[in-house]
Amino acid sequence: MNDWSYSESERCPACDHRAVLPDAATAAGFVARSGGRLAALPCPVGNGWHLVRARAEPGPNR
Ligand SMILES: [Zn+2]
Repeated sequence: MNDWSYSESERCPACDHRAVLPDAATAAGFVARSGGRLAALPCPVGNGWHLVRARAEPGPNR
């Protein structure tokens, strides 16, 4: 782990102001800690990596 902070990260102006993660390893760490609820997405304009909600949400709710 490192000291990178999600809440203090830059926001990407091209992706609904998603937080910009500095690299794939950091993104993968968040995905792992989310228990599968988040997925890592490379920024389409080359601004690093973002986190998005995973689409597959098993379960009867909604
Ligand atoms: Zn972006």
